[in-house]
Amino acid sequence: TSFGFRTVPEESKESLVKNVFDSVASNYDLMNDATSFGVHRLWKDTFVSTLRPGRKGPLRCIDVAGGTGDIALRILDHARETYADRETSVEVVDINAQMLKEGFTRFKKTMYHNTPQVSFHEANAQELPSSQFKDDTYDLYTIAFGIRNCTSIPAVLKEAYRVLKPGATFACLEFSKVNNPLLSTFYDQYSFTVIPLLGTILAGDRDSYQYLVESIRKFPSQPDFAQMIRDAGFTTGRDVDGGAWTDLWGGIASIHTGVKV
Ligand code: SAM
Repeated sequence: TSFGFRTVPEESKESLVKNVFDSVASNYDLMNDATSFGVHRLWKDTFVSTLRPGRKGPLRCIDVAGGTGDIALRILDHARETYADRETSVEVVDINAQMLKEGFTRFKKTMYHNTPQVSFHEANAQELPSSQFKDDTYDLYTIAFGIRNCTSIPAVLKEAYRVLKPGATFACLEFSKVNNPLLSTFYDQYSFTVIPLLGTILAGDRDSYQYLVESIRKFPSQPDFAQMIRDAGFTTGRDVDGGAWTDLWGGIASIHTGVKV
């Protein structure tokens, strides 16, 4: 353990993650706003607006660990507002039914509800059922703040590679490693004290938020993650001059992309 926090054994990680998101589902959006001062919204906007899928729309997209549909909604709004595209679709996939339920309810208030543009599916990112999520199907695979919760990153990447069409794009938004030592110290202090405290006050749930902070610390650095993406078969830009990833806010989060060969 570090900083007195529990270290989670790998085999129980899946059920733990499920419990974490069960317990945070209804407070999830509020907590996101509180812990990041709303910055997660800006990052998600940047993520979606800078995606460069290899072809013109309409696109068939899959948003994995999609939770309450933040990314799906942005993809659909972006397609409509920028390209007047009402045919792009997003399949939201998550392991947690509670999160999907929140998402479904939220989409009821949008114009996408009851259209083929959005659908919700309960599945594990590491083993997407191949009867439902077929090989070479999607133009775009997104995963935002989700991959670090998965037990096996290589398994997730392998599935992403499988379901994407050749030439299609994998894009991941995730908390990452801060490069600047001063910012890093400040950020560590903040995340280990303020976030669990906010979890207690706003959600009555300190443990879940401690888990989230711990999972961020354990996630691989930008170059290591880029290498994992290449190991799964994707091509990426080069590490040094950008391309393989883009840091947001000095590396508090980063966007990694890869293209299926
Ligand atoms: N993408 C959404 C967003 O950016 O707001 C949700 C992110 S939330 C922090 C992480 C999500 O990952 C949760 O909804 C959780 O249920 C989901 N998750 C965790 N492990 C997963 C797995 N193995 N397969 C699919 N989803 C998973």
